[in-house]
Amino acid sequence: MSSPLDILGLTHEALCAEMGLLHEKPGKGTFHGDAVFQALYRHGTFDPASLPAFEANPRLAQKAAERFRLAPPPVTDKQGDGDTYKFLMKLEGGLETESVVIPMRQYKTLCVSSQVGCKMGCRFCETAQMGFLKNLTSGEIVAQVFTARKILNEPIENIVFMGMGEPTDNLDAVITAVRILADQRGLCIPLSSITISTVGNVPGILRLAELAQKPLSEGGLRHLRLAVSLNAPTDGVRDGLMPVNGSWDMAELKAALQRWPLPRPQDFIFAEYVLIAGVNDSREDALALAEYLRGLRATVNLIPYNPRRESPYARPAPESVSAFFRALMDAGQACRIRGTKGDSAMAACGQLGNRALSRRRRAVEAAPSAA
Ligand code: SF4
Repeated sequence: MSSPLDILGLTHEALCAEMGLLHEKPGKGTFHGDAVFQALYRHGTFDPASLPAFEANPRLAQKAAERFRLAPPPVTDKQGDGDTYKFLMKLEGGLETESVVIPMRQYKTLCVSSQVGCKMGCRFCETAQMGFLKNLTSGEIVAQVFTARKILNEPIENIVFMGMGEPTDNLDAVITAVRILADQRGLCIPLSSITISTVGNVPGILRLAELAQKPLSEGGLRHLRLAVSLNAPTDGVRDGLMPVNGSWDMAELKAALQRWPLPRPQDFIFAEYVLIAGVNDSREDALALAEYLRGLRATVNLIPYNPRRESPYARPAPESVSAFFRALMDAGQACRIRGTKGDSAMAACGQLGNRALSRRRRAVEAAPSAA
């Protein structure tokens, strides 16, 4: 018999299709799939035999219990800095996901990982120091939200794909996870409250932009939000910080961002800008950034740098951050300063990652095989 499917990785449609197979009757499955999906995401349980929908069909309940498994990876650690904390979940094989709970005014945001480690090599980022270890499955991505809401009892209403990894580098799993998170029959997180943050992968942006043209009911992801990790006003500065700029320069990136649909007046793209002392935080940089963003409906999130371990870069002084902010505003560019949360727990932006784990894994890979 095939091994049970991770139920957290199945969209409503996929779950119903699997249920149809268990029925062994074409066209069946939706009624029982609905019941399982709703119980799973509304109550956090998977116990088909206890659901009224299965009362008349205990054999089907048993088959479903054997076909699917609800086993979100266990939380192995929580590291907090006041209300902001990151939690780690241990995956099969020993790697860990990292997710950060961030309190907002009336709800909480969850920063989720799409990979363990990352290939992109941004020079200021802790995760980059780990290298790439694994793409997360859609179930492992959804498990981060499921765990935060149903096990840690956090009122998560907002999701940002800004944890470990580059989401467009694992896009099929990320898209499936977004569909599951947004499904109104389940967790029901509006697409306008889900943000995919990319380093500037142009084909990934274009694929998402196409999906963002159509509503969820037609297979699209309309109102999904996009953030681009810009961090530089010119190719010269960006080349020094982000190797991805060698694949798609800022002109190509801007052309892709112009394709992002912004149907409502309140829609905009987030331009993430990590301010690094002496690297990208001068008045000239601010003016060049405003010039680059002209013609794009974007809001700049200014993030004073959270130094990674052994970082060659430093956080700018608060006065430099304010001066940069004022220069952007005076140039007519919408922006805001994002407060730094979680830095003492290495839970802040650009600080996720477990280098010890990465070193251990490499040591294992380098060791001669016992076979
Ligand atoms: S900033 Fe994001 S894309 Fe760049 S290395 Fe870090 S995790 Fe990867």
